[in-house]
Amino acid sequence: MNTIPQIEPFFDEQEAKALYEYMKSGGWATEFKKTREFEERIAQFTGSKHCIVTNNGTISMTLALLAAGINAKDEILVPDMTMIATANAGKLFGAEPVFVDVEPDTLCMDLESARCALTPPTKALIYVSFNGRCGDIEAVRSFCKNHKLFFLEDAAQSFSSFYKGVHLGRFGDAGTFSFSMPKIITTGQGGAIITDNDELAAKIRRLKDFGRTRGGKDIHDTIGYNFKFTDIQAVIGIEQMKKLPQRIERKRAIYARYEQQLQPIDNIQMLPTDIRQTTPWFVDIYLDEVDALARWLNEKGIATRRIYPAVHTQQAYRISARCPNAEGAARRGLWLPSSLQLKDEEIDRIVEAIIDFSYLKTRTKR
Ligand SMILES: *Cc1c(COP(=O)(O)O)cnc(C)c1O
Repeated sequence: MNTIPQIEPFFDEQEAKALYEYMKSGGWATEFKKTREFEERIAQFTGSKHCIVTNNGTISMTLALLAAGINAKDEILVPDMTMIATANAGKLFGAEPVFVDVEPDTLCMDLESARCALTPPTKALIYVSFNGRCGDIEAVRSFCKNHKLFFLEDAAQSFSSFYKGVHLGRFGDAGTFSFSMPKIITTGQGGAIITDNDELAAKIRRLKDFGRTRGGKDIHDTIGYNFKFTDIQAVIGIEQMKKLPQRIERKRAIYARYEQQLQPIDNIQMLPTDIRQTTPWFVDIYLDEVDALARWLNEKGIATRRIYPAVHTQQAYRISARCPNAEGAARRGLWLPSSLQLKDEEIDRIVEAIIDFSYLKTRTKR
């Protein structure tokens, strides 16, 4: 039996053909017209005024924070349940992440816990829409406004996910996406910042291009760096954007098929998900014997991945924090195979293996 990967990239002749055409046309490879087109497509799709693409999702957050004037020693509220990049994005320039617990049914930042974590040095809040879901993000926006916090949405897992019909990433002062391999669309590495704020957008553009206002000239009024994209990636990204409607449909169908069959199983939990609004990049389940199930599936040629450790417990931070919901999700969470190429028969095979495991578990307990 073939092994089912947890995730794998999905390209076809369209990307290959577009790349060949681009190279034949004498493109300069670095960011230029294709990059602008890719940015425009993202802005249009999300409904945002500006889109700026960068090297990756992590740097996108760093740039948004820097452009917003966040400094070393400032505190940034981040959810304790996320990919560690959310915390590291500000750490890069010396800002301090403060870990906040998450809501049990969305795994997104809990507003009451955020309120408790607020101190005078708190200058920003990063909200992660975990697997495309979110809580009452409008309340989070009001909270940030009331406390004069820069509101950044780490929407890395939420490209093509919406709340009340509005694309995630658009509730914050800025929102960021990642186009790393496992995400809904990929350019190998890659990230994007969306914002409706003209000034913020202009600052981010300068920051990512050595501090200059125009390419090709070596006149620099401000300090900047090099976090530019490449047209080579943009060519791939544009082709991936063309296929986005089918990708969204397939990702949702994959999740729904798993959900329909796994929901009735007592000792497996899935989070409430409105599949008309949410496009889960991965399929996440929660159970007590997570390692035993992962081993069981692995023996049957089914690859899975443990959900993130609570960030405050990671060796890189190792600080004390009271985040029982994040710790619970870390202990019980598992990502199931979720790639776009996954076939319905394969989902059924995975579900069957999970049911067998649950059956064995309930029998041995008796
Ligand atoms: C993938 C991811 C990132 C990191 O994005 P990169 O493009 O790999 O830098 C950050 N935050 C979350 C929530 C992610 O899922």
